[in-house]
Amino acid sequence: MRVESGNGVIELVLGDITKQAVDGIVNAANAALAGGGGVDGAIHRAGGPSILEECRAIGGCPTGQTVITGAGRLPAKHVLHTVGPVWHGGGHGEADLLASCYKTALELARDNGLKSLAFASISTGIYGYPVTQAAAIAIREIAAFLAGNDHPSLVRMALFDQHTYDAYAAALSAQEQ
Ligand code: ADP
Repeated sequence: MRVESGNGVIELVLGDITKQAVDGIVNAANAALAGGGGVDGAIHRAGGPSILEECRAIGGCPTGQTVITGAGRLPAKHVLHTVGPVWHGGGHGEADLLASCYKTALELARDNGLKSLAFASISTGIYGYPVTQAAAIAIREIAAFLAGNDHPSLVRMALFDQHTYDAYAAALSAQEQ
């Protein structure tokens, strides 16, 4: 699915973020930037050890914030590591923190001159954020950013399974109306 939005385009693809040949991919990292399971593990495995070395030098990242490294052997040029909130029922600032992940990643991409950016579905795996709610926040934040900035102009969500893809497709269709 591909939709024009503001000064750019929002794309949804069903696939592996480590295969995306874009200027930046956004990893669902943990606050220690220590690598882990899920998409984080996949990115470090495919990209090689240089990404973890750069993460160690940065040291850590608070929830809702984003840092940038190189991308090692990945086809992307950079990895942006954003730390999503763990879902604790929704009453602990989770929505604002998740919105901040998308906003800070997009701003960091812009400030580093990136033209294309692909996100994984932040927080909806091990961190347990309900995907319908997470998708609405992601699409809202991406659309708001594209309305006010001219790059990155291609923002892709790389979604790993059909259920997650369908949730983002519904959120993007709702945003269009
Ligand atoms: P979090 O800890 O933020 O919940 P996870 O990595 O557990 O992060 O999951 C986030 C999303 O990333 C989930 O939808 C999961 O299925 C997906 N995912 C896992 N591996 C990949 C991959 N290689 N490419 C894209 N998405 C992936």
